[in-house]
Amino acid sequence: MVVIMKPKTSEEDIGKMISYIKDMGLDVMTNRGVDCTVLGLLGDTSKIDPDTLMLNKHVDRVMRIAEPFKKASRKFHPEPTIVKVGETEVGKEGDFTVIAGPCSVETEEQIIDVAESVKSSGAKLLRGGAFKPRTSPYSFQGLELKGLELLKAAREKTGLPIVTEIMSPALVERFVEDVDVIQVGARNMQNFDLLKELGKTRKPILLKRGLSATIEEWLMSAEYILAEGNPNVILCERGIRTFETYTRNTLDLSAVPAVKRLSHLPVIVDPSHSAGMSWMVEPLSLAAMVVGADGLIVEVHNCPEKAWCDGAQSLNEEQFKSMMDKMKAIGKHVEKNL
Ligand code: PEP
Ligand code: MN
Repeated sequence: MVVIMKPKTSEEDIGKMISYIKDMGLDVMTNRGVDCTVLGLLGDTSKIDPDTLMLNKHVDRVMRIAEPFKKASRKFHPEPTIVKVGETEVGKEGDFTVIAGPCSVETEEQIIDVAESVKSSGAKLLRGGAFKPRTSPYSFQGLELKGLELLKAAREKTGLPIVTEIMSPALVERFVEDVDVIQVGARNMQNFDLLKELGKTRKPILLKRGLSATIEEWLMSAEYILAEGNPNVILCERGIRTFETYTRNTLDLSAVPAVKRLSHLPVIVDPSHSAGMSWMVEPLSLAAMVVGADGLIVEVHNCPEKAWCDGAQSLNEEQFKSMMDKMKAIGKHVEKNL
């Protein structure tokens, strides 16, 4: 962090500022220019609020140089993190992991049918919501614990590890026991109590980007999980709120290379919730692979017209297979193995 003092600040006032900073346990490198003096703060500035430093009337500007996220930062951890889920290694160079399944688990027949189908098309993990964060309290809220049991039955039948969303910190223990990857949905990206509890486990966590979260806010949420000791975080770009209303959300594909540069964590893309329309899922998925994502999470249903949730954005099983065939072909050109 750098503090720029106003021109003509007296030596006495600069000295007072230096003592104030040193009292916070930091060192100061002083650089006297012709007009202003610049103070470089040395040490851990993560707990310092730049606005508090601005309360000193002799301070002109304060600038952060280091990112506020340390454990998520590539600077301090240059090698990519690989999150192991069964045989699958999410984030491994050259691998592209596809997670697929319905928005919500509905019946045993439905989840097993979709699981078998997406597995045969090349998906490595099965998704399915048991606890659903719905905008309306009158919409289907998910089968809850019964949904977890059905997901387990689908895992038993197909061998696919299961990914499902958690909403309450009270259920962390149960999820750790039952599921392979715990999903934190966009609406809970800043549920800090939930993130802290998940940080105490060692389960892989799929952390979706909040509806209106900046990349920095998203990485700070990952930091909550990492800071508690759980290194197994997979980030997921799922579209953000913008002024555009044509799509359900705007898929921020630029977030993928940005996050890859800023962080060592794997990043996957959810084209289904971004687009909100099934016909857009394939082009967005292909684009996600080409911009460097480590994988996808895609909604697939055996009968989208009758889905209890998010049918309009769900691929049917044939569409998913056809998309996967294209992804495999294009993957050869961009060194991504499906
Ligand atoms: C989901 O994956 O079913 C979901 C609700 O996603 P998001 O949190 O991204 O809206
Ligand atoms: Mn959904």
